[in-house]
Amino acid sequence: MGDIFISDERIFELVEKYGTPLYVYDEDTLRIRCKEMRNLLPNKNLRVNYSAKANSNLELLKIVMSEDIDVDAMSPGEIYIQQKAGFTNERIFYIGNNVWADEIMYAVERGILVSVDSLSQLELFGKINRGGQVAVRFNPGVGAGHHEKVVTAGKKTKFGVQKNFVGQVKELIKEYDLKLIGINQHIGSLFLDEDQYIVGVRMLLEIAKEFKGLKFIDMGGGFGVPYKKDENRLDLAKLSEKLDAEFANFLKDYDNEGVMFKIEPGRYIVAESGILLGEVCSVKYNYGVKYIGTDLGFNVLARPILYDSYHEVQVVKRSGNYGENEEVTIVGNICESGDIIAKDRILPEIIERDVLAVMNSGAYGFAMCSNYNCRLRPAEVLICHNGEDKLIRKRDTFEDIERNFIC
Ligand SMILES: *Cc1c(COP(=O)(O)O)cnc(C)c1O
Repeated sequence: MGDIFISDERIFELVEKYGTPLYVYDEDTLRIRCKEMRNLLPNKNLRVNYSAKANSNLELLKIVMSEDIDVDAMSPGEIYIQQKAGFTNERIFYIGNNVWADEIMYAVERGILVSVDSLSQLELFGKINRGGQVAVRFNPGVGAGHHEKVVTAGKKTKFGVQKNFVGQVKELIKEYDLKLIGINQHIGSLFLDEDQYIVGVRMLLEIAKEFKGLKFIDMGGGFGVPYKKDENRLDLAKLSEKLDAEFANFLKDYDNEGVMFKIEPGRYIVAESGILLGEVCSVKYNYGVKYIGTDLGFNVLARPILYDSYHEVQVVKRSGNYGENEEVTIVGNICESGDIIAKDRILPEIIERDVLAVMNSGAYGFAMCSNYNCRLRPAEVLICHNGEDKLIRKRDTFEDIERNFIC
């Protein structure tokens, strides 16, 4: 788990200035993670695509872009916002999953490369863009991930084209005169041990051999960050060495030496650059459990209720005095019992108006916010390289909640 990148005093300043709940990001951390990914394989033709669904704040996208990283889009909306950030069309890769023809056309009209996720979608693509360039997402038959909901390959998911359909892929490519320029996969999210990823890579490279002259082979994302204090970081040096060996081996007998390798990290790029600040509204005992009531409902951070995810929580006390540790359960303000940010945690005594910092909230944090209970989605603030703070998204207002009603 990363340390908080700002002091307690600064946290209270930000809380005063912008209110809570509040997402706070650190430009320096974000740039470090971008550089680590970009430099993962110095001896190979590697491009990094940031999987922007993890966090598509416009300002953060601009920073990622300035680090010479490209971007993956999952929807026309993501394409739209990525273009606003300044990504040129050739730097966007649209990885559609069960999309309509008009969504494919949205990309095709802009010259954005599309990856299709099934034979059915490949055929649809062929019908609306005969002769076009396309990529196909394969499912190598192995998956990985921190929760079954985020394992995105293997025998129990909706994703990708299974390996033994290679023949049908070839037939459709021929029938619609398509040019298959890349293949991709994404086996799942959040691995801290590279073994399973390497197995997936090896299997994708096997599939790649079935297709001559590919321009790229895309291994997907899933690079994990340690959410718990006692977890080790992903060993990038080891990962790099193993990937390099796999690619070198593949290149020995592939017909296009210049083939580009791609990876698609989402979480790894942004998770540790963000914290979520909330304030304690109430403290109570309910049948033996001490509940810390905050403004951090699951409309603000959905990962715990969705995936039982663990986020480290740090207490920032107004008094500056950190007392004895005790066991508490930290909950939000949403009208559901599952609205729990952190269960049975040992933390210094917390009182009303103390501030809590939920660590590693940069990925799948704001991106999954909602207006459930007609709550306002929080503001986002960036701590810039020069130390200044900058509002990069306003908090919702009541007008935002009302916006699309007709009457
Ligand atoms: C979500 C996703 C990623 C990124 O996953 P992380 O675990 O955040 O790295 C990469 N590729 C695809 C296709 C995805 O859907």
